[in-house]
Amino acid sequence: MDDLRDLYQEVILDHGKNPRNFRHPEDANRHAEGDNPLCGDRLTVYLKVGHNGLVEDVAFEGRGCAISVASASMMTEIVAGKTEEEARALFRRFHDFVTGKEEIEGADDDDLEKLIVLAGVKQFPMRVKCATLAWHTMTAAMDGENAVTTE
Ligand code: ZN
Repeated sequence: MDDLRDLYQEVILDHGKNPRNFRHPEDANRHAEGDNPLCGDRLTVYLKVGHNGLVEDVAFEGRGCAISVASASMMTEIVAGKTEEEARALFRRFHDFVTGKEEIEGADDDDLEKLIVLAGVKQFPMRVKCATLAWHTMTAAMDGENAVTTE
């Protein structure tokens, strides 16, 4: 279990230090700013959503702790190419998971399995806000709200 925990730490640190899709796409047609004042995480999530509801591009900018940045980075990799509905459904399950309502272990869902590295936050309610900030911000952007806060 300790080996697994080290592996999770490594993945989080890697995404935290070298976040994927850390940019502002020129052709983004939705965006929102997410603020987690308890930790000082501030992220802007950009989406390019097609007419058919397909998320063609997703990226983010901002600064925050390793967990908030790593979660945002992983989110951009997972959500690109999905429909808005699929992305929202994934967030609902991820949220249930980090708040301890659902177990992912053995989940049939590959995308959810990738997020298992964030399992450690379950024990720390403050950290749950870090891990879900980018996802809340993404759904706010989809809903046409330009700002969201964890407060
Ligand atoms: Zn944080």
